[in-house]
Amino acid sequence: MKLTPQRQLLFNLLHENDSHPTAESLFEIASKQMPGISLRTIYQTLGELAEMGELQLVDLGNGATRFDPNMGEHQHFVCDSCGAIHDVDITSAPRLRAGSADGFAVEEIGVVFHGRCNRCNLSNQGKLESQQIKRSPGLQAKKIKRVKSN
Ligand SMILES: [Zn+2]
Ligand SMILES: [Zn+2]
Repeated sequence: MKLTPQRQLLFNLLHENDSHPTAESLFEIASKQMPGISLRTIYQTLGELAEMGELQLVDLGNGATRFDPNMGEHQHFVCDSCGAIHDVDITSAPRLRAGSADGFAVEEIGVVFHGRCNRCNLSNQGKLESQQIKRSPGLQAKKIKRVKSN
């Protein structure tokens, strides 16, 4: 397969972006570097790259398909607070068995980890601290004063 400029561009964009972008967000970035490129072309080119084995499609059950240049075996962590998606390596795959699924041919087990990413964890700690400050008597007195002066 030929390495068209569109393929080259999307390949580069995906490799400098580990956020598992959607086609729409890749379209936004790509338009800046290749004005006039259409969303249709983005979808088509992503499909071609997937066929070439350069990226995989990731569906984490939250609507949009994500594009992932990491072709190694890995699972994903989804931050329920900001929506960030991170790669998670599972060195020893869990041996899950589909309990009542006798006769089903399980070919793949996908695990999605949910929680809060380290950035949200930190900013949540920040929020807790500012809540404590708000509760401090000094600031509360100020607030009451301001209400009265209105
Ligand atoms: Zn987060
Ligand atoms: Zn990934």
